[in-house]
Amino acid sequence: MSLKIHIFLGPPGSGKGTQASLIAKKHPGFVHVSSGNILRAQILKKTPVGIAIESRMNSGELVDDETILNCAFDSFRTLRQQESPPSDILLDGIPRNIFQGESLQKWVSSQPGISLGKIIYFQAGRNEIIHRFSDRRICQTCQKSFDLKSLNKQKDDCNTCHGEGPYYQREDDKPDIVGHRFDIFQELTYPLVEFYKKENQVHILSALLPIEEIYDKVSNLLQDNQSDPSALVGDV
Ligand code: AMP
Repeated sequence: MSLKIHIFLGPPGSGKGTQASLIAKKHPGFVHVSSGNILRAQILKKTPVGIAIESRMNSGELVDDETILNCAFDSFRTLRQQESPPSDILLDGIPRNIFQGESLQKWVSSQPGISLGKIIYFQAGRNEIIHRFSDRRICQTCQKSFDLKSLNKQKDDCNTCHGEGPYYQREDDKPDIVGHRFDIFQELTYPLVEFYKKENQVHILSALLPIEEIYDKVSNLLQDNQSDPSALVGDV
């Protein structure tokens, strides 16, 4: 069975993970692969990789390319070996720099039946991102993220794992670290966006649109095999 890998790019907090997870829930055959979630699972399990990367992750720095690429390729192989392998991967958080972009491209070209699909860039500015993160909390049981305001309304009842909680703020969601993560995005990841733009491969979406509107645009884009990235799908 063939497999398409779609790349979701954007600064931390631009909503790419939220969209990937919504799409995966509603589109059979689609799965969400988040590099941050893969790495956080390693930390929780206290694996040698987890122990080695924990302090870098908590301070908002990127982990080394080899570690992240190995984790990603392992996860693709595992997914392909499943009894019902996915048709599409929504890749959230990789690549984060030009080297990772090139390595991913090379790996994909070497794998029969795997190809790159859509590349979508969720665009948002620094202030918006810092504001969003200050309200984000994570359920310790299911790792789902919540907005502080919606949590208060639910009286701490996580609607995925039904209230196990507790909720915490990720170390790397605190304002200083978020600013730093945004700067890292601008310095290291944005050149990749520029590269894909030059190649006319990237679809650009405003990450500030309402969540449902973004969902519809992303969903249409993923189902449209003809779409041309030069016809931008959102306000930029
Ligand atoms: P995220 O949940 O995608 O914001 O990722 C959280 C953290 O995981 C980042 O701040 C990095 O420390 C690490 N990380 C995730 N993806 C990558 C990547 N592709 N390259 C390097 N570090 C990564």
